[in-house]
Amino acid sequence: MATEDSEDEVGKNNLSEESSDTFDVIIIGAGAAGVGAAIALAHAGVEDFLLVDRDVVGSSFASWPKETRFITPSFPSNSIGMLDLNSIAIGISPAFSMKVEHPNGAQYASHLQDLADYFELPISENTDVEEIQKLDEMFHITTSNGMVKAKNIIWAAGEFQYPRLSGFVGSELCRHTASVTEYSNLPGDDFIIIGGYESGIDAAYHLARCGKKIRVFDKNSPWGEGSSDPSISLATFTFERMLDPSFESNVELFSDSAIKSVTLVEENYHVTTSENEVFKSKVKPLLASGFEGSHKFVSHLFEKRDDGFPLLSDQDESTIMPGMYLCGPSVRHDNHDFCFIFKYRQRFGVVAESIASSLGIETEEFVEAYRGWGMYLDDLSCCGQECLTC
Ligand SMILES: Cc1cc2nc3c(=O)[nH]c(=O)nc-3n(C[C@H](O)[C@H](O)[C@H](O)COP(=O)(O)OP(=O)(O)OC[C@H]3O[C@@H](n4cnc5c(N)ncnc54)[C@H](O)[C@@H]3O)c2cc1C
Repeated sequence: MATEDSEDEVGKNNLSEESSDTFDVIIIGAGAAGVGAAIALAHAGVEDFLLVDRDVVGSSFASWPKETRFITPSFPSNSIGMLDLNSIAIGISPAFSMKVEHPNGAQYASHLQDLADYFELPISENTDVEEIQKLDEMFHITTSNGMVKAKNIIWAAGEFQYPRLSGFVGSELCRHTASVTEYSNLPGDDFIIIGGYESGIDAAYHLARCGKKIRVFDKNSPWGEGSSDPSISLATFTFERMLDPSFESNVELFSDSAIKSVTLVEENYHVTTSENEVFKSKVKPLLASGFEGSHKFVSHLFEKRDDGFPLLSDQDESTIMPGMYLCGPSVRHDNHDFCFIFKYRQRFGVVAESIASSLGIETEEFVEAYRGWGMYLDDLSCCGQECLTC
């Protein structure tokens, strides 16, 4: 187990080159999912765990474009037993501590760091997980700082650091929105954005506010969807932004326009749709086509669903590798998609309970408390578009 002796200036519990520590649980990724799962484990009575991150707590959020803010609002509703939508821990409200309704990435990263400090989570930062193997009932995790072993792993490495860069001919000529540090710094006046879901419209909104002209292409029509599920339709916050006068006058939306290719012809980017219409711009097109997700990195440890996502047991455990769990936006059950914080946090309690009970820890009170806060969702039969918990 990591002790104070192993502390150094880089991370609280940083692993050393010679490390061969063994833990009950290793959580990989200290973003919203990893920190939330770690707090749930601690609440369930699991003590021997370590959170590892290739960078620092909240690193993906800290890398968001400077102008990007949460689309889900925070509100201090905990006093009436309704957990703040952006909270990852029972009783905690980011709105209460940050005094912001739609935090930006840096603010939320700082909130995650505050939680890690408050709950005194054992963390090894700057520790990249390079390989995972299961040998003799133990997971052997090769990291940039040596080997660690664990009875259980919670994979919470997220999506943001694994963007989808392919998908059509010439996609490598584009720039993914995940690599943008600040929209107001992007040179050029005439932007083409490929992908019109949240990231694409977010980019269009900020560029439009800078007086740029933008054309947004999507193979569907996200701005026209009538679904009440924010995984399918744009968020209310986004629809409001689309009413901004700068958006209305500077942004053109192209529905049902799949992009077939991007080519560079004499310093002009030619963007061709599947209908063979060609749109030109001098500015590198922005790719807002989503994320591959880190689950591809551990695909050998899970069976695969038809849609490519990991097949999970009712406890979000691998069906072929006992002890391997998934937390975060890649969790899928049937047609339920847990891509937002207020969705995937509902499974932290389920995973923590499964691990705690496998270690012989009594979990009845834990489950009752987590269920009361909507952080223990084990019955998905209620969940559909109109369901308030999903
Ligand atoms: C622009 C944008 C806006 C969003 N807005 C909202 C919103 O308003 N509301 C909402 O609910 N959701 C929103 N989401 C979705 C939500 O933020 C993400 O689902 C969330 O970041 C996922 O958290 P996570 O902990 O799974 O992943 P991350 O925050 O990406 O954390 C994963 C961590 O794992 C670490 N890591 C990755 N690979 C390794 C490795 N091999 N070894 C060690 N460590 C590793 C990374 O350094 C990182 O710190 C948004 C997403 C994006 C991209």
